[in-house]
Amino acid sequence: MDELNSNRMKPTGITLNKRTHELVIDWGGNHIGNYPLDALREACPCVVCRGGHENMGSLHDPDFISLTPVKSYDVVDLQIVGNYALQISWDDGHTSGIYPWSYLTRICPCAACVERRSLSG
Ligand SMILES: [Zn+2]
Ligand SMILES: [Zn+2]
Repeated sequence: MDELNSNRMKPTGITLNKRTHELVIDWGGNHIGNYPLDALREACPCVVCRGGHENMGSLHDPDFISLTPVKSYDVVDLQIVGNYALQISWDDGHTSGIYPWSYLTRICPCAACVERRSLSG
């Protein structure tokens, strides 16, 4: 993938698959990430979920996404925020989770991304 493309990463399509319980993000160029909803909820990057500003630096290890979560969550609403992020409202009442594209690509659970991360350590 060329550098220009990866810097301007933006989804070409976002689908909520209720059957598989996944958020399907099409990054274009045959790059599709199937994000398990439960893991995505656990990965919420907002201040509240990260336990306050002092912990903002300590985001999840990207490979959390392949772990089995303890709880089950559903998405009640999806909003595109500006040009840079996806806001997800969850059925546990949490609505302030804003997932920037850069974060979503970083935790992308597709096979290619998992392999790329394992190679770069
Ligand atoms: Zn949150
Ligand atoms: Zn990927």
